[in-house]
Amino acid sequence: MERKNKLYEGKAKILFQTDDPNVLLQKFKDDATAFNGKKKGTIANKGFVNNQISAHLYKYLSSYHVPTHFINTVSDTEMTVVALQMIPVEVIVRNIAAGSLLKRSDFKEGDVLESPVLEYFLKDDDKGDPQITREEILNQELCSEEDLDALSRLALKINAVMKSFWTRRNIKLVDFKLEFGKNKDGKIILGDEISPDTCRFWDAETDEKMDKDRFRQDLGKVEEAYEDMRRRVFMEAPLESE
Ligand code: UDP
Repeated sequence: MERKNKLYEGKAKILFQTDDPNVLLQKFKDDATAFNGKKKGTIANKGFVNNQISAHLYKYLSSYHVPTHFINTVSDTEMTVVALQMIPVEVIVRNIAAGSLLKRSDFKEGDVLESPVLEYFLKDDDKGDPQITREEILNQELCSEEDLDALSRLALKINAVMKSFWTRRNIKLVDFKLEFGKNKDGKIILGDEISPDTCRFWDAETDEKMDKDRFRQDLGKVEEAYEDMRRRVFMEAPLESE
């Protein structure tokens, strides 16, 4: 697969065109940003860790019939993915109260939510990625109602599959962000990445933070936490959590 022009460079990833218009090359960077780009840094080996974790999780989700953009791992930090028309909405799924939810509710960090909460945020850096309702998404024609229903159902399914995957690896899946797009046939596909950059992972026994919050909150041992999450992805996990 020949790597061609750079299509887009984001905070943590670069997308390149390839000789196939339906295939892109996604490169994961060590760069890290937080607070809408106000905090910048690098996390050594993050590109490698996030590429490996994302690839494995996409393969795992495919085995549960979740359509993802992942095609192949092509190097330590690169994967080929299906070219998608992205829907400019970030979908957040929450199982445990943390992060921005604490500013909008009386929940304390760590409170278990009775059932998973789905939220939508407009993907627009200039506007600071504001939260947006279902009705606003439809009014602004960011996607059709059918697409919104499809991606919302997928998000909840991904949560169920991921929660059990992580429970068996002694990790609490606190919350995470997903992005979806449409392939050339108009089908809704999971895009972007699933990694410690986009998920909150807590150790099930100690509640220790094992994700980008270590960088956001200057907790130290950031590289170690990312590497530990990579190790847990590939560990032999028991079939059942109990
Ligand atoms: N998240 C993300 N990208 C964003 C915003 C959030 O990957 O631009 C992830 C974040 O890592 C967390 C979840 O989405 O796992 C929920 O984030 P939250 O709304 O609590 O915002 P934050 O506290 O990260 O600002």
